[in-house]
Amino acid sequence: MPSQHIVKSGDTLSGIAKKHGFSSWKDIYHAPENAAFRKKRPNPDKIFPGDVVVIPDGKTATPGGRFPPVVPCPFPGAGQGNAAPLGTPGPVSSIAPSNSPPSNFAFVSPRQAALARQASALQFVQAAIAGIERALDQGTVPGASKIPAVTEESKALTVHFKTERHINPLQQAQELRGTFVKILQVILRADEVFVDEIEELASSFAWAIPGGVAFPTHPRNGRIHFCPPFVPRGPLFQTVVIIHEAAHFVSRSILHVASELPAPKGTPVGSTKTYAAMTATEAMGNAYSYAQFALHMAVGFDKRIDPGAE
Ligand SMILES: [Zn+2]
Repeated sequence: MPSQHIVKSGDTLSGIAKKHGFSSWKDIYHAPENAAFRKKRPNPDKIFPGDVVVIPDGKTATPGGRFPPVVPCPFPGAGQGNAAPLGTPGPVSSIAPSNSPPSNFAFVSPRQAALARQASALQFVQAAIAGIERALDQGTVPGASKIPAVTEESKALTVHFKTERHINPLQQAQELRGTFVKILQVILRADEVFVDEIEELASSFAWAIPGGVAFPTHPRNGRIHFCPPFVPRGPLFQTVVIIHEAAHFVSRSILHVASELPAPKGTPVGSTKTYAAMTATEAMGNAYSYAQFALHMAVGFDKRIDPGAE
């Protein structure tokens, strides 16, 4: 249950956050429970004795009150001069996604832009699941079969998940299927899970805490955050960003190993590995691999996404 804190003279939101085990004042100020408080005190630096602040109960989800750290997602091509400057909401009004709100609605928020891609993200992930199931049913999982990898799904398992390098390719395929089902379940809950992010890491396209799905009551960890630079992107890129973030969100071991594009466009992230050199286990811990595999299965070939080219 959320508790309450009555502000005393000398209190600051940072101090209150620290006292209750939160790493940032934003965890408290931006908690949904404090919507009325934000309206009353629109400047977080100006709070007054007697104010009532709700302390969200998310912190009890982890022992010691520590949440997994934020991992920004440096997408290939990001930071090459085409992202909106930090902290600037950007000219989002001029670009509307395909199933956009009525024309008298001038502003498309990052969350609205992401919700407009929910259907395509679901379709891509369903294509990924169907592809893995076909490979399992037809005995074409690479490394587990004498049949050459000629189907598109077996090629995709080889390219994105290095399945033939796995010690047990069938087990890897089953695990990947399970992860994609979890990704599907998250995207089905987009209305509840996707949120606007215009402050923290607002210069990235989006971010999610790896394994954040396990912290549903925490306003920041239990959500996928979409930032202003996401809004003007092309539909394919937006769709794969959603899958990439959902992959982080469902497992704390899905991080960044290597981007799908070769340097200099997309340098390896989080290691010196290139996409081609990953082991099967590393590929399973690489958010880009899930996004690219789903895209591959949805369009029927190995399409590498380029955020600057749509
Ligand atoms: Zn990421």
